[in-house]
Amino acid sequence: MSAVLRVDLDAFAENLRRVRAQVAPAAHMLVVKDDAYNHGLAPIVARAWSEGVQWFGAFDVRTGLQVRAELGPEARIFVWIVATAEEAARAVAADLDIGVGDALLLEDVAAAGGRARVHLKIDSGLHRNGVRPEHWPDFVARAAALEADGILEVVGIWSHIAEASDAEDDAARAAFDAAVQTAQEAGLRPSLRHLSASAAAFARPEFRYDLARIGAFAYGIRPAGGPGEPELGVRPIAALTASVIRLDDEHAVIGIGALDGLPSTLAGLVDVRTPGGMRPLRALGLEQSIVDRWEDAAVGDVVTVYGEGAASATDLAERIGSIGEEIALRISPLVDRDYRSS
Ligand SMILES: *Cc1c(COP(=O)(O)O)cnc(C)c1O
Repeated sequence: MSAVLRVDLDAFAENLRRVRAQVAPAAHMLVVKDDAYNHGLAPIVARAWSEGVQWFGAFDVRTGLQVRAELGPEARIFVWIVATAEEAARAVAADLDIGVGDALLLEDVAAAGGRARVHLKIDSGLHRNGVRPEHWPDFVARAAALEADGILEVVGIWSHIAEASDAEDDAARAAFDAAVQTAQEAGLRPSLRHLSASAAAFARPEFRYDLARIGAFAYGIRPAGGPGEPELGVRPIAALTASVIRLDDEHAVIGIGALDGLPSTLAGLVDVRTPGGMRPLRALGLEQSIVDRWEDAAVGDVVTVYGEGAASATDLAERIGSIGEEIALRISPLVDRDYRSS
């Protein structure tokens, strides 16, 4: 195995600046689920923090606790998958911001004590947890009562949208606005409304509200079939490379394959970047792959499968009907990571 995932932290910092400029005056919550989209949680959150990112979207409590351990008490860390009362208690103890999308979890968070900061989630149509509109008035009334008793603090209202069609997203936004209104009528004064992820936050200002939860674009992963990197103003921060381990007259064998996380369906569909220019990836095995040879090829030469002047992860994804996140997330944790910053 010779595969290396190179992560350019300076490119990441530039993307962060770009994201911040695009969503301002809303704040950017950097989403770091799935080990920061497989770029490595610790170096990613450390750099983001030093670049001024104050919000981290951690998904689950375990990740939230890791971010807390990395960054200390000042970081705002949002978790929205809280499975048990015990997890809720741990989240409260670690001063995490908690996304609450059902009435039972609200009670668990309240029972944990500690005046937790909660963000109430309305199901605005995606049906991926969140409180249904017909239950929302009771839910916010209960939250308002708990807040009035000093048991917790409702700091946010949020939801998640499909970003698949403008019409669906508009309907979700209307449901969201109605939910905010109902919460205010119940006496709540949440200062953080958040609805959008990368695509909607970039394309549609009215979806940004106070906070935009952005993962993909911060890592330079553009949407499949959507606008290109130049248009978005971000670039991929990761490059997947492998070394030549053997040569014959026509081919170079590189030390990377399906076990490293490359979809084997890519064989024959992509070109990779070699020291002699772009060459077709002919075959993809478990641990080795075959590329057309170039002039002066040598064992040890480095070939770039995606990123850094080769195709992007999303380009690869498009060849096989997938998305860039899928390509990024499949890379095996056993592949070495190499972090660069100037
Ligand atoms: C993953 C996720 C995001 C970030 O989505 P991107 O498209 O990667 O920016 C935002 N919000 C929630 C709830 C998510 O699960």
